Amino acid sequence: MLDYCVIGSGISGSTIASYLVKKKSVKVFDKANGLGGRSSYKRFKEKIGFDHGLQYISPKTREFKNFTKLLIKKRILKQWKGKHSFINKKVKENKKHIKLIGYEGNNSISKYLLKGIRYYLKHELLNVKRENNIWKLYFSNNQMISAKNLIVTVPFPQSKKLLSKFVKNKLFLSKVKINSAITLLIITNKTNNKLNSFFTNDSVLGWVSHENSKKRFKFNKDLWVLQSTFNYGKLHINKYKKNKKYYIQLLINKFKNLTKVQIKKIYFTHIHGWKYSSNSIPLKNYSYWDKKIGLGICADWFGGPRLENGWLSARDLYKQISKN
Ligand SMILES: Cc1cc2nc3c(=O)[nH]c(=O)nc-3n(C[C@H](O)[C@H](O)[C@H](O)COP(=O)(O)OP(=O)(O)OC[C@H]3O[C@@H](n4cnc5c(N)ncnc54)[C@H](O)[C@@H]3O)c2cc1C
Repeated sequence: MLDYCVIGSGISGSTIASYLVKKKSVKVFDKANGLGGRSSYKRFKEKIGFDHGLQYISPKTREFKNFTKLLIKKRILKQWKGKHSFINKKVKENKKHIKLIGYEGNNSISKYLLKGIRYYLKHELLNVKRENNIWKLYFSNNQMISAKNLIVTVPFPQSKKLLSKFVKNKLFLSKVKINSAITLLIITNKTNNKLNSFFTNDSVLGWVSHENSKKRFKFNKDLWVLQSTFNYGKLHINKYKKNKKYYIQLLINKFKNLTKVQIKKIYFTHIHGWKYSSNSIPLKNYSYWDKKIGLGICADWFGGPRLENGWLSARDLYKQISKN
């Protein structure tokens, strides 16, 4: 019988799985086609690709700083050095503000942590039952998995839907505010742009990153990630799919007008809505563990909308589990 079934292969799922596997049997399941959750890397071809969600990591806590130092040594993470521009914002770049990115995409950490652990993609957990003290987990491909313990690391609304009847305290009554965002990936002609990213104070387009500046690949065209603001995402997340052409053009026009980058030709576009992009209210606890039924929850939404909080949440959960 499997000891731990972990749902989600983002930073929270891959971190908790990497701790648990030292002593127990662990399997990880994710509904997506690739590892990393909201730190996913969208490949165009070979090594050429885009950081689809998370853009960079700026470690704040001592523990996480130490962890990232180790990953820099192992060439999993590296610094994204260069010029980051603030368009119309009254802020200047803080040179001490370190920007870390994955060597081969921002899902490099999850890939590293899950090395040697059995994981299954395209497996969406649809229903959870508990029978004779065992978890019965029902997945989208009609598969059923039994496990002694269940660890869930998915965004707040999805966790609530799956687990409400098993969580006794007020966790799911918490008012976690969820932000949405729309991301556009584009490939253009090679430009003479020298900047790595643009932060703006525009109401539609909040951020642009020049993927070539991350130096993961060489290519005779330019790759860009354009991210909407949360406000714009909130208003349009349920509409954009019906009129993708309109949203693609709007974001491209904003990009051209705000940055003045000389775009002559567009070769590729891909638009994606992050319904549960991030949460903005930290909770009292960093994770949830019910030893009696073997149910654990860890995710970034316990601490706030950054990867570091997913990692801290997973560590906190492992500490709770280890006390048993
Ligand atoms: C556009 C965007 C930009 C961001 N920029 C930054 C940034 O610059 N810096 C930063 O620190 N953070 C940033 N973040 C936030 C950061 O990405 C998250 O904090 C972090 O990735 C969360 O990790 P997690 O493991 O908790 O959740 P997730 O990464 O969301 O992992 C949850 C996983 O569960 C899977 N899943 C969901 N439901 C099911 C189910 N029913 N069955 C099976 N699998 C399921 C999902 O596919 C996903 O892989 C950004 C996020 C977005 C979307």
